[in-house]
Amino acid sequence: MILRDVEVEGRPGLDVRLEGGRIAEIGPRLAARGDEIEGGGGALIPGLCDHHIHLFGLAARADSVVLDDAASAGEVAARIAAAAAARPPGAWIRALGYHETLAGELTRAELDRLAPHHRLRVQHQTGALWVLNSLALDGLPPGDDPAGLERETGRLWRGDAWLRARMDAQPPPLAPIGRQLASYGITALTDASVTTDAEAAERLAAAHRSGALPQRLTLMSGGALEAPADHAFAVGPVKVLLDDHALPDLDDFLSRIASARAWGRPVAVHCVTAAELALTLAAFGTAGARPGDRVEHGGVIGAAAVGELKGLGLTVVTQPAFIRERGDRYAAQVDPAEQPDLYRCASLLAAGVPVAASSDAPYASADPWVGIRAAIDRTSIGGRVLGAGEAVEAATALSLYLGEAADPGGAARRVAVGAAADLVLLDAPLSEALAQPAAERVRTTLVSGALAYGG
Ligand SMILES: [Zn+2]
Repeated sequence: MILRDVEVEGRPGLDVRLEGGRIAEIGPRLAARGDEIEGGGGALIPGLCDHHIHLFGLAARADSVVLDDAASAGEVAARIAAAAAARPPGAWIRALGYHETLAGELTRAELDRLAPHHRLRVQHQTGALWVLNSLALDGLPPGDDPAGLERETGRLWRGDAWLRARMDAQPPPLAPIGRQLASYGITALTDASVTTDAEAAERLAAAHRSGALPQRLTLMSGGALEAPADHAFAVGPVKVLLDDHALPDLDDFLSRIASARAWGRPVAVHCVTAAELALTLAAFGTAGARPGDRVEHGGVIGAAAVGELKGLGLTVVTQPAFIRERGDRYAAQVDPAEQPDLYRCASLLAAGVPVAASSDAPYASADPWVGIRAAIDRTSIGGRVLGAGEAVEAATALSLYLGEAADPGGAARRVAVGAAADLVLLDAPLSEALAQPAAERVRTTLVSGALAYGG
């Protein structure tokens, strides 16, 4: 395949020939051979890597009716009706993010009206309550009802595990999110879920082999994990999930680091709060850190911790989009003295701490261009600027997504002869695209030289 008339690393008017999944040749007016894609002068850049995502969570959300941003009862009804129209009668519909300001307290009778021919369950925004319609309840025979279930109203309090064990719903499909992520120019994904076991990993591997998830996959896990012989996924760091309400003691933490070392894997620690980061720095201070060890999120990093991160050689994998999507809440709820410490970026880079970017989707937008814009402007949805000094230049913001999956925060991958043909063609030269970065600028995405999006 040949990509015609593209801009490569600032040089316009080049052709790029791909062969065997790699870049074989770069130069002006290469001889015709095989398929061609007309670049129209657009930049050809390395494919983006989302260094921290939760694929099953994103697939479940993509397969659900999302009500968080619904504006009225009419909109709730319309969204559920659209989901019903897209499914055969009797199928499950999952709706998320309901709150009473939309249409008051939901009941079984109300849900029967909204979805008379489907099994409907609606989750309250707090996550503590499901409301089910009659068809959904009919499929859950009485006999072992939990205390939180009120069949009359259809309400089920804190009953997730009970419900999941009794539903015969199919796991959500991965192909829609594979397509969506490819349309953003993402060619590599690191799933950061601590719950990934051999069975979950095999489902992701199967989705990759079938092309449903065309991106290269790296999987974290809490326990042991083996890579398959065909490299359908790579094994990433051991994930350590800290809970601010019940931090593990240092010995427990150290034993998890020791397990990771025994498996030959780095460690990635979930650190949203200052307390989580303090425990993490203490643990690595005792056990020693190795290249590839990571702090996930870095939600609150005090000035003193910046030097400690640098001293230990830890990488920070941040989520710039949280500034946009949660910035207004942070401004209202986070102690003003702590606000300069939120999701640092520029100050970490200046101190020599490697930084990579990611989405943490479904907890923030999966679109990396939303993150790129937020890394540049540090602006919330409500228009508030948080940590203006942490803003980075557009080219730096993009490069946060261009490191190898195995080396987030390391050197950006390059469009060069011999490199893997994981590539994104933009609709304009890079300087123009970065002046207004957006997913709509992605025209074509290739993984190993195969089309994953566009053409
Ligand atoms: Zn996460």
